[in-house]
Amino acid sequence: MKPPPFDYRRPATLGEALDVLAEAGPGGKVLAGGQSLIPLLNMRLAAPARVVDVNRVPGLDGIEAGPSGVRVGALARHAAVERSPGAAAAQPLLRQALRLVAHPVIRNRGTVVGSLVHADPAAEMPAVLALLGGSVRLASLDGEREVPAAEFFTGPMESAARPGELAVSAFFPALPARSGTAFHEVARRHGDYAVAGVAAAVTLDDDLRISAARVACVSVGPVPVVADVTAACGPRPAASVDWDAVAAAVRDLVEPEGDIHATADYRRHLTGVLAVRALRDAAAAAHGEGS
Ligand SMILES: Cc1cc2nc3c(=O)[nH]c(=O)nc-3n(C[C@H](O)[C@H](O)[C@H](O)COP(=O)(O)OP(=O)(O)OC[C@H]3O[C@@H](n4cnc5c(N)ncnc54)[C@H](O)[C@@H]3O)c2cc1C
Repeated sequence: MKPPPFDYRRPATLGEALDVLAEAGPGGKVLAGGQSLIPLLNMRLAAPARVVDVNRVPGLDGIEAGPSGVRVGALARHAAVERSPGAAAAQPLLRQALRLVAHPVIRNRGTVVGSLVHADPAAEMPAVLALLGGSVRLASLDGEREVPAAEFFTGPMESAARPGELAVSAFFPALPARSGTAFHEVARRHGDYAVAGVAAAVTLDDDLRISAARVACVSVGPVPVVADVTAACGPRPAASVDWDAVAAAVRDLVEPEGDIHATADYRRHLTGVLAVRALRDAAAAAHGEGS
């Protein structure tokens, strides 16, 4: 199918982009990598009056990594972030998760920030942002605002971005010393959206006991489901944790729905299994045993 007709704009500056977005109001849609928007247009699941292609706007493709974390610009492609040594050093979960996003050809074009605004509950990057307590910076003619992850994802395919706003960057915080991360998921085919997936972050204390443990689960709710499982995991070394109890705790926290890919019960079971795998790998990474 072909998309319904729309007014196409390709602004050359950020100011121009904000002008044409403001003018379009609720009928305006930003086009970044197009890996989600173009299929939606072609299937006529979206029919914006105006598409604002921001690919020629300079200064939006930055990846700034530092001790506090990684700021990813709106036009930084999945592949660029995945391959960035600085980003991987500051926040290893970015690369661990991006390897699971779609296929390389899609990662070459799709953007991390686009994935966040798209807010698919089966997508990896919203879970990463939610787990780390990151934020998204939104710009409009009224100025800029930084929205924390906990307030950014408002429902399936719905974010806090308002009409007239452009997400200019996202910030993924670094973790304290002696922390590790991991991402495990099951998809029907490699590169497909996950039937279920879990991102985990673990921090160890001076005696190498687990002092903090969090998971973010995908495909089991309308938005990423973040859970603090520190009480179930610590304070004890990973080798002494009752992992069956941790799996049960995570299973109790999620309320998945069934669909043509999996029953709700299977998704719940899988989430428990994947949470334990991710937490154990994150604890091993925190020990310095690879990530
Ligand atoms: C076959 C296939 C498999 C895929 N598998 C996965 C997968 O396993 N996991 C996964 O996470 N993703 C997957 N994707 C989606 C892919 O990761 C997309 O790249 C991503 O979801 C959206 O990024 P984009 O830059 O292409 O955004 P676009 O398609 O350009 O836009 C998506 C939405 O976000 C809005 N938007 C984008 N950027 C901005 C911005 N800066 N400010 C405001 N609004 C903005 C658009 O208006 C639109 O509503 C898959 C896609 C395909 C085609």
